[in-house]
Amino acid sequence: MENDMLNVGSDEVTQYYWDHCKQEKLMIQNCNDCKRFQFPPNLSCRYCSSNCIEWKKSNGIGEIYSYSVVYRAPSVFFEKYVPYVVALIKLDEGVMIESWIIQDELSDESVISIGAKVKTSYQDFGTYKLPVFKLLN
Ligand SMILES: [Zn+2]
Repeated sequence: MENDMLNVGSDEVTQYYWDHCKQEKLMIQNCNDCKRFQFPPNLSCRYCSSNCIEWKKSNGIGEIYSYSVVYRAPSVFFEKYVPYVVALIKLDEGVMIESWIIQDELSDESVISIGAKVKTSYQDFGTYKLPVFKLLN
């Protein structure tokens, strides 16, 4: 039920990613031909179409590229989380990942800013563990 609300699902391309999230490892794909990282996972390289894709463990550190504070839950499922911060994170490897910024004092938005350094954490939703981010102090 919760996974349906989160719109999370896996397939042959993403199963590896989700399995490692459960182990609290953030895996991203790297192309063996053009050497670029890509996210989300794909069957081939989205830059050069190569099929020589390799998984590499991200250091899980990045910075906030953009963010928004959500005060009004888009559905009943999210009501218990408001206010919460959704953000576009630019990982050190150069890829963008959309996620949540989790912090102890969500009411204090002043500590969240574009360019702020963040690190991966994980939130357990039963079948899936989702990578979320916390501010690096
Ligand atoms: Zn490539």
